[in-house]
Amino acid sequence: MATGDTDAPVLIAGAGPVGMTTALALHARGIDAEILEADSEDRDRSGSRAIYVHGATLRTLERIHPGLGMNLVEDGIVWPTRHTRWRGKEVFKRTYDNPGGSGEIPHFTSIPQVDTEEYMHEALADADIPVHWESEVETVDASEAGVRVETTDGREWEAEYVVGADGGGSTVRKEIGASFDGSQSENSFIVADVAEVEDDPRPLERLFHYDAPEVDGRNVMLVPFTGGWRLDIQCLPDDDPDELVTDERMREFVRAVMGERYADNTTWVSSYRFLQVMADTFVDSHRRVLLAGEAAHLLAPFGARGMNSGIADADEAASAIAAAIDARIEAVARDEIELFAARRETATEYNLNAAGQALEYLQGDDPVTVLRKEVAASLADHFDSAGEYLDDSPYGPHGAPPIVTTGQY
Ligand SMILES: Cc1cc2nc3c(=O)[nH]c(=O)nc-3n(C[C@H](O)[C@H](O)[C@H](O)COP(=O)(O)OP(=O)(O)OC[C@H]3O[C@@H](n4cnc5c(N)ncnc54)[C@H](O)[C@@H]3O)c2cc1C
Repeated sequence: MATGDTDAPVLIAGAGPVGMTTALALHARGIDAEILEADSEDRDRSGSRAIYVHGATLRTLERIHPGLGMNLVEDGIVWPTRHTRWRGKEVFKRTYDNPGGSGEIPHFTSIPQVDTEEYMHEALADADIPVHWESEVETVDASEAGVRVETTDGREWEAEYVVGADGGGSTVRKEIGASFDGSQSENSFIVADVAEVEDDPRPLERLFHYDAPEVDGRNVMLVPFTGGWRLDIQCLPDDDPDELVTDERMREFVRAVMGERYADNTTWVSSYRFLQVMADTFVDSHRRVLLAGEAAHLLAPFGARGMNSGIADADEAASAIAAAIDARIEAVARDEIELFAARRETATEYNLNAAGQALEYLQGDDPVTVLRKEVAASLADHFDSAGEYLDDSPYGPHGAPPIVTTGQY
């Protein structure tokens, strides 16, 4: 069997944002790592996906590769206005003079995931971290001494540690025998990217419209990012999502929500029923294989915890591996990896619960929630806090996990 050409002590499966962050975070700690990626180098990563990048994530990226966080800051946008409507009527609107805060790194930035990944690839090249394209991990065999990996092209690789950052369908997760259970949203959601128009663009605001009359009473969310807009439409129970994502229906939706000038600007559309799932363990029994990002958990996107929490996983996986490689005593090395798992499993439970609260609020069949929304909408003209409740709730609680972690999530 051919041998993979590497002396690096760590192999990472997957060149998504989490795998790339793991490699950069290891490099920052003086540990060589290489990435095995199933796709070819000229792949097309379509869709904006993770647009909301939290300040804590920007700080992590800036810390592990100076300049990387700032690239995202310079290219991303910070929208100044929060705007919420209820059945055609404005219930909340607030514009901030300084929405990003006063520090060099803003509270958040909004940038398409493809651009974030592009900057990460540049950072990998800058740090001389190899990505082995078309190298799909097929098997992972861990022992007390290390890990043997086979890729589908027949090559065999050896490493001290392996990080599975190979996304929701993770082979690494299956190979370590972790289960992956959870729930799925009742509603489907249409998610589309709409390109910005050059002249006469919309004002930069994040808009949530409950039961929007222009789309027959569906909930609508609109969020700007560099170069375009994320349009989210929550399907009604009887909707056929496949029918709603056709070109003709999308043109109608976009025209109704954003105006005629945007009608032909949809660049990508998909429909989802969101999963809320986590692996029952983030490490193998030998404490040599670690799971990070969507290989370890899938979260409904409201609250933007997916990539943000994956980047926190990545940084903490790198920290644990660096400490384990440095350890003279095997039991100490094992302990570092176990601590990673304990911290990130706790964080994931918290994130799942937070994203679940947002999802439950949006699906809204609980009578108490329905009543709360109705009452808040009827009081919004008189009390700012009622409108703010409606504005804030679709994204779930703002808090961070009850543990020390390098990311917000
Ligand atoms: C509509 C939508 C909106 C979202 N919005 C947000 C948001 O605003 N903020 C946020 O934080 N998150 C958001 N997310 C989530 C975010 O996109 C994901 O959390 C993020 O992409 C996960 O990164 P990852 O690196 O773990 O996995 P992926 O991005 O899935 O990367 C996995 C990589 O592994 C490779 N791979 C797969 N199998 C193998 C194998 N066997 N061997 C080698 N390589 C393999 C894949 O080709 C891929 O390159 C959103 C997601 C969606 C769908």
